[in-house]
Amino acid sequence: MRTKAALVYEYKKPLVIDELTLGAPKDREVLIQYRAAGLCHSDVSVRDGVFRMPPLPCVPGHEGAGVVLDVGHGVTRVKPGDHVLLMWVPVCGQCYYCLRGHYHLCADRDKTRLGRMLDGTTRLTKGNQEIQSMLGVGAFSQYNVVSEQSVLPMDRDIPFDVAALFGCAVVTGIGAVLNRAKLPPGSHVAIMGLGGVGLNVVQGAFLANATQIIAIDRFEQKLALARQFGATHLIDVTQVDPVERIKELTNGMGVDFVFEAIGKAETIAMSYQFLRRGGTAVLVGIPDAEARFALPLQEMVQFEKGMLGCYYGSGDIRIGLKTIMGLYKAGRLKTDLMISRRYSLEEINAGLADMESGRNVRGVIIY
Ligand SMILES: [Zn+2]
Ligand SMILES: [Zn+2]
Repeated sequence: MRTKAALVYEYKKPLVIDELTLGAPKDREVLIQYRAAGLCHSDVSVRDGVFRMPPLPCVPGHEGAGVVLDVGHGVTRVKPGDHVLLMWVPVCGQCYYCLRGHYHLCADRDKTRLGRMLDGTTRLTKGNQEIQSMLGVGAFSQYNVVSEQSVLPMDRDIPFDVAALFGCAVVTGIGAVLNRAKLPPGSHVAIMGLGGVGLNVVQGAFLANATQIIAIDRFEQKLALARQFGATHLIDVTQVDPVERIKELTNGMGVDFVFEAIGKAETIAMSYQFLRRGGTAVLVGIPDAEARFALPLQEMVQFEKGMLGCYYGSGDIRIGLKTIMGLYKAGRLKTDLMISRRYSLEEINAGLADMESGRNVRGVIIY
């Protein structure tokens, strides 16, 4: 069949809308009609070559939701007609990591990182050329074929645009709080960077009964949104020094946890200074491969300050997403507020530009 998609043919160039050929689903694969795809900073990282995986040409888009149109042999998790959201780690359930409960680190993610199906081939082609799909999801295409390990069925009363965000920003942000920090009630936390993930850290900290939720950004509208998500204090970095302000807000001590959701060496180094003795920094934003910074090692030992990496919510993604869907239906999540604007596939470059300029928290492509 044919599908219209937005592709990266060349790094640092706008995405190109093109028509591609899509092969039928093979064993344990699923044909999806995408209905919504979130625009995330990781898509920009693929476009600009900050992530050199998958190789080009490639269809980005890793926050997707849609309808199952067809299934290959041996598919048991879904059937045609099911509404599904996409997970960008295809959990196998039986590798070294999965057996230890580290589903988000599943060995199969090394295969989809290359933008290919689990058997190493692609279903998308243009003439003789194979086209990669970002993280085995490739949501910037009207249709795509994915592994059944990448999809999770959802109830029909959950909107597709909201579900698309559950699969990346929401599960990552809330998982960072609940699974990685295991935030005790009454904690004092700071969140550096209020994009889609950062706002969901705010929301997670609120759900976990943090006493002090200090949200930090340079955009006024994102700070205002953080207030709606449960932030108790706002710091505009263009107005005040966040290190000094956090000391003031915490009787000179610093916070128990800081969540860094930008992924830059400078902001990570700064976030470390927000910590009290015994505090922990959780790094959620993905830095580029060359990023380095120097840790004050004596402080780390003498004051027992910790630093943890956190990827895709650090837990069982399916349990995390089921919990999130339950919370949403109970009216406990404000995911709708995150969607600043909706775009057609043809408007995708404008959507990415709106995110990069800070105008949007999340833009969503609607098919
Ligand atoms: Zn994302
Ligand atoms: Zn696995």
